[in-house]
Amino acid sequence: MSIVYINGEFVDSDKAVVSVFDHGYLYGDGIFEGIRAYNGTVFKLKEHLKRLYSMAKALLLDIPITMEEMEKKVCETVRKNNLKDAYIRLVVSRGKGDLGLDPYKCDKPTIVIIADKIALYPEETYEKGLKIITSTCRRNSIQSLDPQIKSLNYLNNILAKIEAVKAGYSEALLLNLEGYVVECTGDNIFIVSNGTLYTPPSAAGALGGITRATVIDIAKELNIPFEEKNISLFNVYTADECFLTGTAAEAIPVTEVDHRIIGSGKAGEITKKIISEFRKITSVYGTKVYE
Ligand code: PMP
Repeated sequence: MSIVYINGEFVDSDKAVVSVFDHGYLYGDGIFEGIRAYNGTVFKLKEHLKRLYSMAKALLLDIPITMEEMEKKVCETVRKNNLKDAYIRLVVSRGKGDLGLDPYKCDKPTIVIIADKIALYPEETYEKGLKIITSTCRRNSIQSLDPQIKSLNYLNNILAKIEAVKAGYSEALLLNLEGYVVECTGDNIFIVSNGTLYTPPSAAGALGGITRATVIDIAKELNIPFEEKNISLFNVYTADECFLTGTAAEAIPVTEVDHRIIGSGKAGEITKKIISEFRKITSVYGTKVYE
């Protein structure tokens, strides 16, 4: 059993319950963050919280505690669970309301923080890479629900995931309505072509991933040329290297896309360098939990 933070209290996980009238449950009216702690440091917690509060602002959702208080609560949740390495899920929903849509009938937002052991891809996947397919499901348009908002409505991503799993793959690539590559169901995508690193811009619908930003900083430090630009499936199929980035997966190679072998069919040299640099800094940048 673990200890969960819920609306100001720490309770046993089996007592951590949310009302069926919560608009997060009824309408997906809420947002979340997936965060990770490495050796007692919550990686880039401030950046995750900035993203959370920005998403809340876009949805006119007033989080009733400050960012500083939230930072303390996240650390306290990790401490209460005696974890050093953890996956942390922070959820803020509109709260308990009535059956109507009106968010102003909800009394106060529900805040939940869960800290759990992290489930990882096996280490060999970081050498062999993932095989992925393109989903027939298009990424939500920025003209409707902007993919910058990690809302509690993840059906777009779930439908793509279902397609991948049913076809025997672990991940699916989503295109935007214009047909450009955006991201996978829970990860950003990068390719390397002729020594330059590329990733789709947020204007294409790619989430401003915390890992994505970290990888861009690493590329700058390693003097790897980098560009944000629209990427087509042709660009992916013919790339020298491809990898995904996300809090849970870190940076993970992709070696096959829609049955096309990418580059050498193994983790590429630039990808390996980035993975290794990334792993050096995970317990450096962040908020210390046990000090
Ligand atoms: N895209 C989507 C759709 C995601 O859910 C995630 C995971 N938060 C990412 C990209 C990667 O973002 P991050 O590096 O911040 O985990």
